[in-house]
Amino acid sequence: MPIYEYICPGCKSKFELLRPMSQASEKAPCPHCHIQAERALSTFACFSKGESGLTSSIGGNSCSSCSLTSCDSCGL
Ligand SMILES: [Zn+2]
Repeated sequence: MPIYEYICPGCKSKFELLRPMSQASEKAPCPHCHIQAERALSTFACFSKGESGLTSSIGGNSCSSCSLTSCDSCGL
């Protein structure tokens, strides 16, 4: 089973969950405050971009790997 990453809207913590692909888009309960957390998209790619010190040079104003228009939601 693949591992998916979730971000809790309550405590802002990230956690990973091993679950079937069929449940990947479903929300998962935060282990800390037990509210439903949204799945995080490609946070890893955003972090590696930050470590390199570069702002997006690929594709203009959006993160190269996540579907968001900025990395505000994925931890940067
Ligand atoms: Zn939480």
